[in-house]
Amino acid sequence: MRKKLVAGNWKMNGSLTENTALINSLTRQQSRFKTVQVALIPPFPYLFQAQQLLTSTNLSWGAQDISTEPQVGAFTGEVSASMLLDFACQYVIVGHSERRQRHHETDQEVATKAKIAIENGLKPIICVGESLVEREKGETLSVLYRQTDAVLNTLSLPQLQHVILAYEPIWAIGTGKSATAQQVQEVHQALRQRVAAMDWVAAQGLNILYGGSVKPANALELMSLPDVDGALVGGASLVAEDFIAIIEAAA
Ligand code: PEP
Repeated sequence: MRKKLVAGNWKMNGSLTENTALINSLTRQQSRFKTVQVALIPPFPYLFQAQQLLTSTNLSWGAQDISTEPQVGAFTGEVSASMLLDFACQYVIVGHSERRQRHHETDQEVATKAKIAIENGLKPIICVGESLVEREKGETLSVLYRQTDAVLNTLSLPQLQHVILAYEPIWAIGTGKSATAQQVQEVHQALRQRVAAMDWVAAQGLNILYGGSVKPANALELMSLPDVDGALVGGASLVAEDFIAIIEAAA
């Protein structure tokens, strides 16, 4: 039985004051979501604050990206795995479509980031997803397999056990338009089978999150699908009441 994970990707949002209010609202309600893993993913500058406020709570935290460089050094603007460990992060998002698109991250760079994360004891939330044009051309699965295979071919079999996948159709992110339950289940099942071809045991334990306009109104339907093991939530994770409703739908 896979324990669901609901992760809140704050993207480039927040301030010290706003974060305190949001985190306090969530931790006050934490007794309501004991059966689900919950993680907050603030921007880098707020990891210290997250650590201060979330230590000794049921909630975990992590970062939105990690460098492809395994060691610290002359890499302006980058953040290493060791730095994330200084703030006791447990998770790191890699390959979010906003980074693949805006920063031209390749499948191999994303896979390398996942490997470095695992080697440092972090759990990578590896985002994969197709654009609207790719879906309309019938290329959804070939795009997802290309992105996923880069990871499968880069990690060792034991490392596969630490992977979290997030299926995030690009056309559903921040648009208010979620994929349908049928589209989501089809993709999640296909991704699990892809991993199973490599390692059946890892595939059974694999958490595959759905992300793309998850909100209280659609969370229960999406979280009830057999191959959906949680959610990566953007916009709705910034509103305590909405994020709690999504967590409860996953419970
Ligand atoms: C995301 O940022 O990963 C995301 C899914 O955003 P939203 O929930 O706002 O669509």
